Amino acid sequence: MSFIKQYRCTLCNQTLDYDKKIMTCPSCGEKGILDIEYDYEAMRKFVDLNYFKQQEDFTMWRYLPMLPIEKKHIHQMLNIGGTPLYRSINLEKVLHIKALYIKDEGLNPSASLKDRASGVAVLKAMECGYDTISCSSTGNAASSLACHAARMGLKTVIFVPKRAPVGKLNQLLIYGSKVISVDGDYKDTFNLSKLAINEYGWYNRNAAINPHLVEGKKTVALEIAEQLKFKLTDWVAVSVGDGCTIAGVYKGFYDLLQLKIIKKIPKLLGVQSTGCSPFVDSYKHNEPLKEAMENTIADSISVGIPRNPIKAIKAVKKSLGAWIAITDEQILQSMKQLGSNEGIFGEPAGVAALAGVKEAIKTKIIKENETVTIIMTGNGLKDPLNAQKAVKAPTLVKPRLEDLKQIIEEKGEKRHA
Ligand SMILES: *Cc1c(COP(=O)(O)O)cnc(C)c1O
Ligand SMILES: [Zn+2]
Repeated sequence: MSFIKQYRCTLCNQTLDYDKKIMTCPSCGEKGILDIEYDYEAMRKFVDLNYFKQQEDFTMWRYLPMLPIEKKHIHQMLNIGGTPLYRSINLEKVLHIKALYIKDEGLNPSASLKDRASGVAVLKAMECGYDTISCSSTGNAASSLACHAARMGLKTVIFVPKRAPVGKLNQLLIYGSKVISVDGDYKDTFNLSKLAINEYGWYNRNAAINPHLVEGKKTVALEIAEQLKFKLTDWVAVSVGDGCTIAGVYKGFYDLLQLKIIKKIPKLLGVQSTGCSPFVDSYKHNEPLKEAMENTIADSISVGIPRNPIKAIKAVKKSLGAWIAITDEQILQSMKQLGSNEGIFGEPAGVAALAGVKEAIKTKIIKENETVTIIMTGNGLKDPLNAQKAVKAPTLVKPRLEDLKQIIEEKGEKRHA
């Protein structure tokens, strides 16, 4: 059963019959990113509060009737989604806000939120009869694609910029991808992958271009909503690179609004690094998006030319949210803070959401009486070298109790405060 109505081009607004093989608008070309529209009238008769209560699948596929995916191969997939949403115990006191929730997407099979999109990409490629999938990625889109393709027996050709962090690169190689490391930045990497995909006819998992991916990513919002018993927080914060994740978060809440399951979409806080902040710059100066430098440790959001600008800008605007930039230093502080206060270890782009929330509290965008959910998008073990910058090196000691005692007493670390 599918409730898909049609495609709509986000650029020229024309509608198009749904065809799983079409990627972008035929009139607008590559910039004509398509949005999948559903028949909510019909969907509502099937997907209601009762549907959620009775659904026994706790992976992202519990939302199958809301997705543009056929059922047939799903039972073979690794478990994507069903990640925990934790109420903060310590941080919310430190930050002086009413409530803080953390959605830990690092617990997905390849350890990032990207699994939600890649799962959809792999299934769609299988539906369309492809045996090879390709993408360019700063890391997680690739490692998640490699992971799920390996499981389902598809080949992958992955283009990564040479700066990709070691954890993510190792994932690709372990999952058996053909990895092309491009001697250039993400823009160069993306362009080469585009040429190669055209040349060889592989299935295209490039973010934005493929309209099914945002639909996969929206399941994170559906889960958050369910986990909060549909009483959403005032804000949901997420870091932004290409803009597909925040667009997906918006789409999930939008679907629930159309189904009359929630009354309001939370305000979305789009977080970028000051080292690469095209969306924030455009928002601040009220100007069209301009290409930005790619100069941040948060590799997952180091995207100089975002590929999904229209959907991302709309998500923040329609939700009455805001854009904010934080420095790499703030990211590293937040990494340590989230780890030591809540036991959750995030990669730089994952903890950027927390850094953004702190900055938004400081600048009074988020008020004390408001509630916040942060989407922690990726696991910290993916990028050990940057994590090392967030902490002090451990103390080295000779294997003798006297030496140990001296160090412990000197540092006043005898008792844990
Ligand atoms: C991809 C990614 C993002 C940003 O998603 P976009 O769709 O590029 O905006 C944020 N965090 C992590 C860990 C990611 O992998
Ligand atoms: Zn168009």
